[in-house]
Amino acid sequence: MLPANRQAIALISDHADPAAAIGEEEAGGQNVYVRKVGEKLAQLGWQVDMFTRKTDANAPSIVEHSPYCRTIRLKAGPQEFIPRDKLFDYMPEFVKSFQTWQTKQSIYYPLIHTNYWLSAWIGLELKKSSNIKLLHTYHSLGAVKYQATENHPAIADIRLQVEKDILEQGDCVVSTSPQEAETLRTMVSKFGNIEIIPCGTDTDNFRFMSKSEARQKLGLNINDKIVLYVGRFDPRKGIETAVRACASIKTENFKLVLVGGSSDNRLDGAERARIEKIVEEVGLKEHTIFAGQIGHDLLPYYYGAADVCVVPSHYEPFGLVAIEAMGCGTPVVASDVGGLKFTVIPEETGLLAPPKDTEAFSSAISRILFDDLWLKKLSKQAHANVNRRFSWTGVGVQLSDLYSSLLPQPVPTKVPSRKAPVPATASLAKTAV
Ligand code: UDP
Repeated sequence: MLPANRQAIALISDHADPAAAIGEEEAGGQNVYVRKVGEKLAQLGWQVDMFTRKTDANAPSIVEHSPYCRTIRLKAGPQEFIPRDKLFDYMPEFVKSFQTWQTKQSIYYPLIHTNYWLSAWIGLELKKSSNIKLLHTYHSLGAVKYQATENHPAIADIRLQVEKDILEQGDCVVSTSPQEAETLRTMVSKFGNIEIIPCGTDTDNFRFMSKSEARQKLGLNINDKIVLYVGRFDPRKGIETAVRACASIKTENFKLVLVGGSSDNRLDGAERARIEKIVEEVGLKEHTIFAGQIGHDLLPYYYGAADVCVVPSHYEPFGLVAIEAMGCGTPVVASDVGGLKFTVIPEETGLLAPPKDTEAFSSAISRILFDDLWLKKLSKQAHANVNRRFSWTGVGVQLSDLYSSLLPQPVPTKVPSRKAPVPATASLAKTAV
């Protein structure tokens, strides 16, 4: 039952479970974003229900994160891991499960914030049978992704259409950087509302700490030169660029620490094996640590222990890792793409280099790594910049204001009689106007 004085809202995140362990193939920035935004919005007075697909029959269907903020796992297809490119067929069942939940619980969500294109499709379906306000955050854009790859999955055309529909037919798209907003305008549609609200980071957790304390905690040598990568093992993350760049700058006391990757053999097993091979081929085996998936409790120590954090992605709409690293006072060498151009200030908080350009990455990393005084200056500036611009609290307040502007009066939380429900099928004809 809902408290009478709280407005219920729904965040939908089809594949990215806000309650999941982060860092594996399908669990990254989107999971963190939805969970953190949900928690902040709950602190700001909303009742936040975050919906995701149930991927494990033994996992709880409801996870309470904090007062008024919970994850609800809905049945949509087999209760097992399914790669996101194969999930579209199960989305009609997601819509049905969501509607059943609302009816059974007597909850009505007048505002739904969807995340990723599959959730956008769900939101557009729900909008057909109710008067919801619909907001969307992309997290990844098909138009950019397919431009950079040769083999498009069968689902590509549908995804591109849904990404256009949500911009044109939703009430507002939340873009996480001016760069992403510009990409939406040039590659997706001239129509529709866009608000720019960045991603954030937990500045209490991703905090400044002394290098010696962090290295002691992790058993790393205080005299080593340490370069860090944090993220999923996905070819688009450009880990290969980082490895090859480090090969040419390695010294006796050099270490490359790679954080992320799943513990079992899911999709990223192939990328992990490929990177291991390259590490061996370029002679970095003795200098590389594969740390595996690390939780946000320990991650600040990894950032704090590193001299430089490298974010060599081919594309990044935002890139949480960059602000987490800088929040911990670690300068970032990142690809000159997407949201990284917004978060990393060249020569002030780190450096930018063209994606896949091994030599440019190598020289940028060296410039910072072998100049202790400059490194310290960048470190201070990076920390201050993140605290000023990217706290989750600030992000939560901006989103909360946006929601309030779309919902001018308190809305009853009891389910009103809906328009005749439209049976949902996973066809594009349903979403096109
Ligand atoms: N992450 C983590 N543990 C890991 C690897 C990554 O907690 O072992 C987190 C990382 O801290 C960040 C998120 O996963 O919060 C990655 O977000 P980002 O936006 O950088 O990349 P995405 O996964 O969305 O492509």
